[in-house]
Amino acid sequence: MALALLALLSASASAQWKPDLTRPRREALDRISADSLRGHLSFIASDLLEGRGTPSRGLNVAAEYIAAQFRRAGLEPGNAGSYFQTTVPKIRGTENTEPASNVVGVLRGSDEALRDTYIVVSAHYDHLGIRRDGEGDRIFNGANDDGSGTVSVMELASAISSMKERPKRSVIFMTFFGEERGMLGSTYYGQHPLFPLEKTVAMINLEHMGRTDDTEGPRLSAVVMTGFDYSDVGSVFAAAGKATGIEVGKHPRNSDAFFVASDNIALAALGIPAHTLCTTFIFPDYHKVSDHWEKVDFSNMASTLRAVALGIMTLADSPREPRWRETNPKAAKFLEAWKARKGPAAPP
Ligand SMILES: [Zn+2]
Repeated sequence: MALALLALLSASASAQWKPDLTRPRREALDRISADSLRGHLSFIASDLLEGRGTPSRGLNVAAEYIAAQFRRAGLEPGNAGSYFQTTVPKIRGTENTEPASNVVGVLRGSDEALRDTYIVVSAHYDHLGIRRDGEGDRIFNGANDDGSGTVSVMELASAISSMKERPKRSVIFMTFFGEERGMLGSTYYGQHPLFPLEKTVAMINLEHMGRTDDTEGPRLSAVVMTGFDYSDVGSVFAAAGKATGIEVGKHPRNSDAFFVASDNIALAALGIPAHTLCTTFIFPDYHKVSDHWEKVDFSNMASTLRAVALGIMTLADSPREPRWRETNPKAAKFLEAWKARKGPAAPP
């Protein structure tokens, strides 16, 4: 009975967001291409970029490449004419003096009332760099973690910005430095937001989008969301998945356990409904030098990204804002932060 009621509630919630596969949306989704993802990732995860440690020359080269793709997609620079939000990050145990940058571009919304509200689509583009000693391969290429999320952000930017009629809300595409050093880039963004946080209605962060060989078994045509039932965002993406033939759901243990394990937590802590989507949580080459781009299933990646794109379009076109679930005690502190940010005028 309780279960049936819950299903009914989530069905009606997602109906209000309408993840319809209209013709313009389908045409945009069709532009998401396995070949394009492969092309981007073979560069981002190449040895030339030396494992994209924070800070490093390889990380900065990756940043330039991402900015070039944002420029090509027609995104506006997110930071006063620049795609870079640069700082000298404090890194525990070091006296770092080298800068690192978040890369930020925005697709302006088309609706007069909603264009000053924002959806964030993000991933971390850093990884572990180079191992100091040892024989053989010493470069942590980070193809799946999180080159895959990084090239997903580029590909989503390119597909969504190709629509003749842009989404109603503005969509911020962003890649973070320093996740592997403790969510440094996303935390920095939360402290120095480039767009008003109280007008930022959701964040979709992408991790581990490429590999299908989860340590628990193959994961095809499926993605999982962290904090799946902490907010309405989960049901919106589940419905978008249904419309595109992709299962979007909750991992019985990891969806909750990993909610705090990626950059979404930096904005969730500030009250913004923020979640990470991934195909696998743990895969065989996780945090090893063998996390190589050749092991990625690009065709599965393209088809799952179509579901992700439809979820983003749905959130971006709806006047309704996602909310933390009052009924889930695990969401309570994020809901409190949301209320504190929105003030007494918070919509019901
Ligand atoms: Zn990661």
